Amino acid sequence: MKVFSDIVSLREELSSLKNMNYKIGLVPTMGYLHEGHISLIRTSKGENDITVLSIYVNPTQFALDEDLDNYPTDLENDKKVAKEAGADIIFIPCNEIMYSNNHLTYVTVDNLTNNLCGKSRPTHFNGVTTIVTKLFNIVQPDKAYFGQKDAQQAIIIKKMVNDLNIPIKIIECPIVREKDGLAMSSRNAYLNKNERNKATILYKSLQYAKSLIIKGERNAHKITSNIANMITKESGVNIDYINVVDVNTLEDISILKGNILIAIAVKLGDTRLIDNIRLEVQ
Ligand code: AMP
Repeated sequence: MKVFSDIVSLREELSSLKNMNYKIGLVPTMGYLHEGHISLIRTSKGENDITVLSIYVNPTQFALDEDLDNYPTDLENDKKVAKEAGADIIFIPCNEIMYSNNHLTYVTVDNLTNNLCGKSRPTHFNGVTTIVTKLFNIVQPDKAYFGQKDAQQAIIIKKMVNDLNIPIKIIECPIVREKDGLAMSSRNAYLNKNERNKATILYKSLQYAKSLIIKGERNAHKITSNIANMITKESGVNIDYINVVDVNTLEDISILKGNILIAIAVKLGDTRLIDNIRLEVQ
């Protein structure tokens, strides 16, 4: 496994691999790797000749009052984990490499960024689409891998790639969960024991919502209020949003039909957690 921190030498390496017709898969991450990231690396490894993992905590996707400065990092462990998972190349740039002092260009996806996380983090997705475009241009992979854990992000990136004619296939990978259902996240490291126990309410409430839908419930308000009731019973868990949306538009729906996403964001102490389930409803 080779580690690169600058764009020129990474491009040199990649261009010689591409000359040999190797297929390249890219897994963009912010590091502090866990099983969720590992599943993306393994999926890429199965579908490509070379898997490039990027690790970069992108400042432009954090608002000023968010956790950029505290975001967990452990590059030495990440290198070990990435190697074991089968990554061939890791790209770990610094801010000076990714953003020049006079960086003026941003990529914006309209509408899909307005609801869910876009509502409470209005600048977040501009940062995400900008950094992902830059990584796509630097690596020029055949395929790129994103987790359904960040469902809105994956949907926005698919739209961006389509709208901007970027010749990269976006592969969405299922959410990897802890044994008790909590979706794996680097931010879970912030949780103390008590918060960690309470965090299971996200998945439990989503599973309860699913059971209601299986029993025939189609009223979105009833679904979201049942989830809210469950979550508010846990003291210290503050709801940011609970929405039932259409997966294509990410707009709220009132009657469940077709491909839907139930998405939740909460704050547990200072830690923001998200989770979701996707369902096809007849
Ligand atoms: P992050 O490092 O949190 O920015 O995540 C990097 C990529 O890993 C994103 O595409 C995430 O959606 C994906 N990811 C994070 N957690 C999980 C998980 N629990 N299951 C599947 N994918 C995940």
